[in-house]
Amino acid sequence: GYNYGVPHSHQNQCEDQMECQKIRVCIRKRPLGVQEVHRGETDIISTLDKKSVLIHEMKEAVDLTEYLLQHEFHFDEVFDETCTNQDVYMKTTFPLIQHVFKGGKATCFAYGQTGAGKTHTMIGTRQKPGLYALAARDIFQLLDRSQLCQKFHVYISFFEIYCGQLYDLLNRKKRLFAREDGNHVVQIVGLREEKVASADMLLEAISWGNQERSRGASGVNTDSSRSHGIIQIQIKDLARRVFGRISFIDLAGSERAADTRDPDKVTKMEGAEINQSLLALKECIRALDQEHTHTPFRQSKLTQAPVKLYDTFLINVLKDSFIGNSKTCMIANVSPSHVSTEHTLNTLRYADRVKELKRGIKSSSVSSFKKSKVVRATSPKHCKNSCKE
Ligand code: ADP
Ligand code: MG
Repeated sequence: GYNYGVPHSHQNQCEDQMECQKIRVCIRKRPLGVQEVHRGETDIISTLDKKSVLIHEMKEAVDLTEYLLQHEFHFDEVFDETCTNQDVYMKTTFPLIQHVFKGGKATCFAYGQTGAGKTHTMIGTRQKPGLYALAARDIFQLLDRSQLCQKFHVYISFFEIYCGQLYDLLNRKKRLFAREDGNHVVQIVGLREEKVASADMLLEAISWGNQERSRGASGVNTDSSRSHGIIQIQIKDLARRVFGRISFIDLAGSERAADTRDPDKVTKMEGAEINQSLLALKECIRALDQEHTHTPFRQSKLTQAPVKLYDTFLINVLKDSFIGNSKTCMIANVSPSHVSTEHTLNTLRYADRVKELKRGIKSSSVSSFKKSKVVRATSPKHCKNSCKE
């Protein structure tokens, strides 16, 4: 196969990532925001080392005394609040880019509750570019350096799944449809693929699509936390055959519909839709866990039911991670605030399931999720990050 090499400056930093992991599960904790500090919210997440987190949960006993529960989790990588997008990029996405340059497929997705930092991580801003933008820079650098830009072209697409419907963000939110091809791969019909000649052009197109994403049909701003945004960067040869591909998925918020404060009925339906989708993903993970490696998708109960596009999409993401020449990186974003304790634990448990699934492939499927333990019977009202005693 092809191997076009990687920029030397990056090589050393990535060495320990270069093991053949098909799925990497990483956690990113964001800092407390200024407003949150103002409201007296406290940080309940300690990052023990670069692979472990400890959550300090305050609970109330029946006699109304408070006690502290600690939950410890281990992942492939834990990024604390001091990590930049560049730091996250080097340890999550850059190894995927190397894989893409060997003709592989890769997916990087952000999971977590609304406000946990998914969009910040995936899309970012002009000042703090997200993972896709950092990837674009390296892709063009690699192509230019090796003078492959004459042999290959870069194409991008950007679409969203909102309320179960597909919209092309590079084509005025044109409604799109998906169908499964003979190889059970979901194809999106009529999705616009824009050829881009530089990282700047790529960023420009995505930034344009991003403005579309936040705009509803009626012109009013919609809540992008309810939509899944998918950016695909493809490297194609002159005959337009796909050589390598990387996708960046900024998922809708993982919080449950019941928690949505918006009383609007439509909003509730959207919430239910998201909920259902995530539930289906969970089912998929469970099904994969049971190791019917060759035909789980056609025959599983899940795919016989009228599958929602989002489910199909994510199922394919996960499926590829197992049977295709694909690598996947999940970044579970968490908020540090005590207000989000429940969501944070949900996110970490979910990520833990994905991690277990990965272990399943390597034949031992023992969970390394440590039992939660009661630390002391009484404790201060709120737990600071330092209360590890
Ligand atoms: P989500 O997409 O998960 O709903 P956002 O990415 O929009 O969350 O993040 C919520 C807020 O927190 C934004 O104002 C964002 O700028 C900020 N934020 C998120 N992650 C970080 C981080 N690592 N460092 C600094 N600010 C962050
Ligand atoms: Mg977002």
